[in-house]
Amino acid sequence: MNAAFAELLAAIVLTALAALAGWFAAGEIGAEVMTLSAVTFFFLRQLWMVLRLIHWAGCPLGTPTPSASGAWGAVFDALHRRGRLASAEREQATQELDRFRRAAEALPDGVMILDGHRAIEWMNLQAEVCLGLKGSVDTGSRITHLLREPEFLDYLDSPDHRGVPLQLHTQRNPGRSLQLQAAPFAAGRTLLLVRDVTQLQKLATMRRDFVANVSHELKTPLTVTLGFVETALDALDDTPPQEIAQYLQTAVEQARRMQQLIDDLLTLSSLETDSPPLEEPIDVTALLTDIWQEVQALSAGHHHISLENQGPRRLLGSARELRSAFANLAGNAVRYTPDGGEIVLRWNVEGTAGGRFSVRDSGIGIAREHLSRLTERFYRVDRGRSREAGGTGLGLAIVKHVLERHQAALQIESEPGRGSVFSAVFPPHRIQP
Ligand code: ADP
Repeated sequence: MNAAFAELLAAIVLTALAALAGWFAAGEIGAEVMTLSAVTFFFLRQLWMVLRLIHWAGCPLGTPTPSASGAWGAVFDALHRRGRLASAEREQATQELDRFRRAAEALPDGVMILDGHRAIEWMNLQAEVCLGLKGSVDTGSRITHLLREPEFLDYLDSPDHRGVPLQLHTQRNPGRSLQLQAAPFAAGRTLLLVRDVTQLQKLATMRRDFVANVSHELKTPLTVTLGFVETALDALDDTPPQEIAQYLQTAVEQARRMQQLIDDLLTLSSLETDSPPLEEPIDVTALLTDIWQEVQALSAGHHHISLENQGPRRLLGSARELRSAFANLAGNAVRYTPDGGEIVLRWNVEGTAGGRFSVRDSGIGIAREHLSRLTERFYRVDRGRSREAGGTGLGLAIVKHVLERHQAALQIESEPGRGSVFSAVFPPHRIQP
């Protein structure tokens, strides 16, 4: 302002001086010409500066302001400062937006922004994956044209639904269960949150099946036990004691079955919740000898059971857990091998490749289609036979858990009618000379 005033004053003084000089030198006409020239010069300069300003305003952002002296210099300097400030603010806003986008991309859930016409304004990668969309193609399209499931359209149309998530199976991503939640926000826009709940639903189904299975497994022996105890009670007065003893004996057997089932369930639960096993060195020879004696007792002389120990090494792990896993495999061999069959327990260390405990039997074998499901809880090839053999259907599930806790793998080879080989393969870092 001061500079502009100074410039105006200077122009007036200059004009007056020029007029005076002209008046003295050349008379009145000369003075008028000089004054007119000065005023014209003044206005032409202003016009030139205005034109430079207009030209600069039309240039791309970031173009340096024109340089000038005096009042125009002050104007251009002020504009330059404001421009710098604005671009710093713009830069900061861009960085914040970028940070927000990165955070939204990193979210494990899908996020989508719909405009007032339900066209996709933006979505993160997870939303693309969940809904089977492609950002580069589908952004700008109406979501109602891409996802046509009636329940989804109803959900978007009904504001009452918005507090409650929608469970959706979409043709765009078959086989997945999705949970969607819409929330309205600024200027008629909608924020759509998408979560893939396939795994959660599988777990919920597994939990439901498990509870149903346990109840069913306990119900049968409990009913039988109750039945025999009640019969024994009713028959106390007029039945010979040997017969009553038989009833009670059956009741005891069924109670033992229940006890075994509960023991196995507790073992499984502790395997799932306990901290990793201690790394104690286990004397494999002593462990195998114990198990061999146990299965000899279980077989009661009905099978030929041999022990092959090809490497008196130590195995690092939990003796209690490994004993339970190895005994389960050996026990199964006895229970699923007809009398007179052959069973071999074997331990061998495969150079630097690790160690292998295997149980080979010449028993009934298992058809290929069952192999991948054997370690599921309560999965049995032949339910009747397993029950007859005193099985709970949890043995191999326990084995699998124990081996996983020791970074070991369970390998199963089997042929119906010819027998099976169950092997626990341990990584080299668990073997000690
Ligand atoms: P179970 O208590 O029924 O034996 P497991 O989990 O130990 O339960 O085994 C699951 C199923 O795998 C058994 O019911 C049986 O059908 C099959 N199986 C396990 N071991 C053998 C084996 N050595 N020979 C044949 N079938 C076996």
